[in-house]
Amino acid sequence: MRLSRYFLPVLKEDPKEAQIVSHRLMLRAGMVKQQAAGIYSWLPLGFKVLKRIEDIVHQEQQRAGHIPLLMPTLQSADLWRESGRYEAYGEEMLRITDRHKRDLLYGPTNEEMITDIFRSGVTSYRDLPMTLYHIQWKFRDEVRPRFGVMRGREFLMKDGYNFDLTREDALHAYNRHLVSYLRTYERMGLQAIPMRADSGPIGGEDTHEFLVLAETGESEVFYDSAITDLTFGDREIDYDDVEQCQAVMNEFTSRYARTDETHDEAVFAEIPEDRRRSARGIEVGQIFYFGTKYSEPMGATVVGPDGKKVPVHMGSHGIGVSRLVGAIIEASHDDKGIIWPEGVTPFHVGIVNLKQGDGSTDSSCEAIYAELKARGMDPLYDDRDERAGAKFATMDLIGLPWRITVGPRGLANNKVELTSRRTGESEEMSPKEAIARLE
Ligand code: ATP
Ligand code: MG
Ligand code: MG
Ligand code: MG
Repeated sequence: MRLSRYFLPVLKEDPKEAQIVSHRLMLRAGMVKQQAAGIYSWLPLGFKVLKRIEDIVHQEQQRAGHIPLLMPTLQSADLWRESGRYEAYGEEMLRITDRHKRDLLYGPTNEEMITDIFRSGVTSYRDLPMTLYHIQWKFRDEVRPRFGVMRGREFLMKDGYNFDLTREDALHAYNRHLVSYLRTYERMGLQAIPMRADSGPIGGEDTHEFLVLAETGESEVFYDSAITDLTFGDREIDYDDVEQCQAVMNEFTSRYARTDETHDEAVFAEIPEDRRRSARGIEVGQIFYFGTKYSEPMGATVVGPDGKKVPVHMGSHGIGVSRLVGAIIEASHDDKGIIWPEGVTPFHVGIVNLKQGDGSTDSSCEAIYAELKARGMDPLYDDRDERAGAKFATMDLIGLPWRITVGPRGLANNKVELTSRRTGESEEMSPKEAIARLE
């Protein structure tokens, strides 16, 4: 992409409505535009990041054997009357009436609808285990939408639902989700710690939230600092292997880590004092096991091996896809702007032309730009007629991990500069070497 032809409405001044750094930087970098309280348009740069996060979520869910589909945003109230949640859900649910006076709602979550899909298509235990998921916009009429996309009213969520014959199978599905989530967040350059939590309106007995530690987080958390040493890394995992998934679950939940709802001072006090931490965190996902809470009232049954009909055991598992954009920025920025982890960056590298209009500088930039694209990379070329300082400021603000700076002085010796956004370190090398380094 050439910046001269892109739509990147950066702001010079700090927007005063933004209270936290991710919101401020997303507005300044022209990633989103607020359309109403808690409702945003995703401008081109923000949309690219959102899509990259979505791609990672899709890849990791499918790696775990989970099946993608797509359910609508609007749902019939009747489904929710079957589970008893239509009244119970309260004011967070946006209720809508159509021209025929039929009650609809903008889905805040999809347990009812997926249970309806399941019951109309699956009748035998032989089709289990099954996990269906989608990535779709949700609406929750939050009392206080704030912090930009972190607490929106309309937000993008991945929600997945497992259907199993037994409680044991459903707990394996729970563990499988935990493992896939660990991989997902790490690929985004995040440390998200699974913490024992409370199940809230979804209901159920088992639940963990995944939290990214950040001062601006809305959750209060308590943990043993030893848990922050754990990383999933690139270990091989067989998602059908019950013991292997259980072992990962045990490893990542053996240390104390809880949100305030389940925090227990007495248990916490047993941890050596120098490892006891209380902090703030951003909830970026949650997994639940809730057994037959929905399958029973809604009649989602299968015929088991003994020929008897039984309600399936279920769980639901969510990732806050749009909230993650903000969470990643909270975890990765400096006073100049965003620092994208490679896994989610909107462009791989920025090219800064220090002397736009200078024949040899322009042609060198063009050649680098073409070569990067030919090698499958996605560069952003700042070909605007702007001062070097302004170009650097834009690149720093939008946070691409690498920058290639091209100017007539360096080119006289066949040199360009390759700069890391994270370390700020620059190195001079030939254009060819710079391209090779980025591959
Ligand atoms: P919160 O405690 O922040 O209100 P939640 O527990 O109500 O979140 P879940 O029902 O667990 O949310 O939904 C799954 C994920 O969707 C959450 O972990 C979070 O990352 C994301 N999410 C929930 N509400 C919002 C929101 N208003 N804006 C953006 N993302 C959200
Ligand atoms: Mg909520
Ligand atoms: Mg919550
Ligand atoms: Mg939650």
